[in-house]
Amino acid sequence: MMRLLHADALLPGDGTTVLDGALLLDAGVVRAVGRAADVLPAHAGVVVERVRGVVFPGLCNAHTHVELSGMRGRTPPGAGFVPWLEALQRARAEELEEERDAAIDAAIAGMREACVVGVGEVSNGLSAWSRISRAFFGTIWHEVFALDRARGLEQVERLSATRDAMAPGNANVRWVPAPHALYSTHPDVIRRLLELAGDAPITIHLAEHAAERAFVKDKSGPLGGFYASRGLGEATAAFPAAGTHPIAAARALGLLRPGAALVHLADARPEELDGLAESGAIVVLCPRSNLTIETRLPPLHALRAAGVRLALGTDSLASSPSLDPLAEARALFERNPDVPAVELIAAATWGSAQAIGWPSLGRFAVGASPGVVASEGLPSGVDPSAWLLRTRTAPRRLLVPAGGSS
Ligand SMILES: [Zn+2]
Repeated sequence: MMRLLHADALLPGDGTTVLDGALLLDAGVVRAVGRAADVLPAHAGVVVERVRGVVFPGLCNAHTHVELSGMRGRTPPGAGFVPWLEALQRARAEELEEERDAAIDAAIAGMREACVVGVGEVSNGLSAWSRISRAFFGTIWHEVFALDRARGLEQVERLSATRDAMAPGNANVRWVPAPHALYSTHPDVIRRLLELAGDAPITIHLAEHAAERAFVKDKSGPLGGFYASRGLGEATAAFPAAGTHPIAAARALGLLRPGAALVHLADARPEELDGLAESGAIVVLCPRSNLTIETRLPPLHALRAAGVRLALGTDSLASSPSLDPLAEARALFERNPDVPAVELIAAATWGSAQAIGWPSLGRFAVGASPGVVASEGLPSGVDPSAWLLRTRTAPRRLLVPAGGSS
């Protein structure tokens, strides 16, 4: 079915703004996009749907852990990463399966209400995979934590059996194996996971906090004690320190490659970002999670100055108040009002669609099927992106569902 939308403002997802714009779709696939003065006369026979507000592509959440949704309120805010992780592990051990599943369902409903259409889910048990694939497109990264080399390699060999047992009937959400982080996964295990991933989009938590920096460099800092308390003293002793900062260590392992979704970089320093943009990797920011766990924000200005492509994720409800990527954009905009709002919206749409390896989502480009969201009530003379991030009262409606294929 042809639909012709005429809106006060279109945000195509690529960082541009089209005031008084129009969008033509056929069965959810974009056929034309541009100024209303150009698009409307060219399709004079099609009924025009007038939207008094802003129209933008369906949102993509490039990093979340829906399977941890039951952990909301179970971790201490502001205490730093290791106390947060200890509390998370205790709470997960006590969680009942039905509680977990109810929390997953509620989290998925919340994302749909926020007009999310694409998801990058990081998962240990794949427990949310089939339900996510009924609601969204995207990638499920099957995550491996393994300080010990031999046990890690065995774990990698078992992944495909778990995948086969848990795979949903549709192909909306692709499976890709992934390491958790440099400080939790042996480098040989990371290399093996990269081989298995092949050309698929990869991800890793990177440069998230000071504990990571210390452990990756020379195994100092609080993580050694945490591992010893878990009976991992021997594995820690055998673990090879990289002798450098996390981004350099990731580069040495081949993790900085086109399309790689590098999550957090909250602890990255400006001088460590050289060459990151040229690698083609995408940085996925989860600012509200960083604020919750470590009371810090990622270095947004340095990342922009370095020309790095940005995406947005929420992390899980164990560290973030919601799974809405536009709320992440708002959190950054409130603290960095000099950054163009339209760039942050691009991160939550096209940037995040690229990070999850689903290029038919995230932007109004001819041939794409990103879904269409409308927020009505835009006052005249106001920057539509800034309004979208500042207003908390304009509801979003998914006017056209996403129909992407990879
Ligand atoms: Zn995460």
